[in-house]
Formats: sequence, structure tokens, C-alpha cells
Amino acid sequence: MKPLMKLLRALGDRWPFFALALTTMLMVLWVGLTLQSVFSPQPAAQAPVVLPSPLAPPSPLLPNWAKTAPSPLVAPTLPSAAIVPPSPIASVAQPSSAGQTPTTQGAASGSNPLPQSRYGHLPYQEHDANLVSVGTYGSGANQRTEYLDKEAAATFAQMKADAGNAGVSLVAISGFRSVADQEKLFERQIQRQGSAAAAARLSAPPGYSEHHTGLTLDIGDGAQPDTDVKFEFENTKAYEWLQANGRRYGVELSFPPNNIQGVSFEPWHWRFTRSPYAAAVFSVARTLAGMP
Ligand SMILES: [Zn+2]
Repeated sequence: MKPLMKLLRALGDRWPFFALALTTMLMVLWVGLTLQSVFSPQPAAQAPVVLPSPLAPPSPLLPNWAKTAPSPLVAPTLPSAAIVPPSPIASVAQPSSAGQTPTTQGAASGSNPLPQSRYGHLPYQEHDANLVSVGTYGSGANQRTEYLDKEAAATFAQMKADAGNAGVSLVAISGFRSVADQEKLFERQIQRQGSAAAAARLSAPPGYSEHHTGLTLDIGDGAQPDTDVKFEFENTKAYEWLQANGRRYGVELSFPPNNIQGVSFEPWHWRFTRSPYAAAVFSVARTLAGMP
């Protein structure tokens, strides 16, 4: 208080003018700040939502950041508004009549922020960094080597060993797949099924396969190779073991019966979700499916 008293004494009977001047300055400052907050742009609110393109060229020099940072190659999060019903992606992804254009344009409608999907399949970027072999499949001229993301491959090796101890033989049928390979596969499926819509019930269009991520594996039963990539795989010991134990390894069925994506039940197709990278890659699909 002392300095204030000193000041007042020094001002003498001029203190009312001083007080008026001070009040005016404060009001000018307040008006200025208010106007600034009204007219200045608010970048956070105006930033456009950018969804990554599923067909962006693969970058072979992609560093290991993807493994450590939850920095996704696909849309990492789904706005919560999008998953509140009505959101079933299948209902918008599958044209009601043949010949309709197949691409679902979430963005085109202007109100649906879901990432673009095709026939219920979500976009995935090709990710071939950190791939390691998980063994060979087939024999003779048809034999091929299959690959998975390093961490997924380690998980599969552990599962294979544990299942083996329980008398169950897990076989890696198909792991990583490039967009180019998927294109050929999808073309063959169209020829077999008659239309892209029918083909998409069984195979993902190129750019929309979980196999692009290196985090998904089609698994067979070594004791019943005749059930490989067939619905009958559901009746094998391998399937039974995967159903009972997969979750312990962070491994889950991507397309269970009546899945929300509207993709046909695929008992052989399992995704590996344990690493932070994998969790980010599959976050949209898992959120859609209501998975914890
Ligand atoms: Zn598959």
C-alpha cells in the first residue's frame, strides 16, 4: 500500500484525472482483445480433415517409426460421431443393384466422415518394411514364401509352437500381399463370381486388403490341408485352437459371421493387433466392430 499512498500524494488533487486515464486505457485494451478474438482465424476449427489415400505409392524407405510411434498408415481415429448408429459401413458400402458404382464416398455426401470404403472393405496402405518370412506354402512349382511384419511373425512363431505342444498344426497360407498382387487376385475373383460386388464378398479390392499391412495371416490346419481357405476350416482343430487362444496373442478374426463390414465369414483370416503400430492400423476397423 505504501507506494500507492506515495503516488496519490504526489498526484495531489490531480488524482481523478489519473484514474480516468487509467480506466480509459484498460477499456481500450479490453475492446482491442475482444475484437481480435472475434476476427482472427481459428486454425484448429478450420483445419480440413485429411484422410490418407489408400493408393498412395508405397515408400520403400519407410523408417522404423511406424513400429514405435502410433503413427498410422491409415486413418488413425474415427470421429466418435461416425460410430454412433447409423454407421454400419456395410449398408452404405454395398450397392443395392448390380452395375452401380462400387466406391462408397463417405466424404462425397458431406455428412459422413467415415473413411472411404469399397463394398465394406476399409483402405489399407501397403507396408513392406520389416517383413520377415513365416515359412513356405504349397509344393513344387507352386511353392511360395510367405511374409509378415516382424512383430506379427514373432507372435505367429510363438503361437505355432504353443499350438504344436497341444497337438495342433498351424500353417501360414498367405501373409503380406502387395496392392499389385491383390489386383490380380481380385480380377480373378471377379471372373469367377461374375461381378465386383460378388467378388468383394470374398476378396478385398486392391488397396483395401488387410494383407497389405503385413499384419494379417490366412492360417490353415496342417492336418487338414483340404480345408485351406475354405469355410470348412471352421471345423478344424486349428480353428478351435485359434478361437480359444488367439486373443491371448492379440490375434483376432477380422471377419466373423455377420460382421458389420458385410464381408463374408472368413474363418482362416486373422489379424495381429498387439503392437502399437498394429493397433493404429486397425483402429478404424476395430472401432467399427465395437472391439475393446
Ligand atoms: Zn486373408
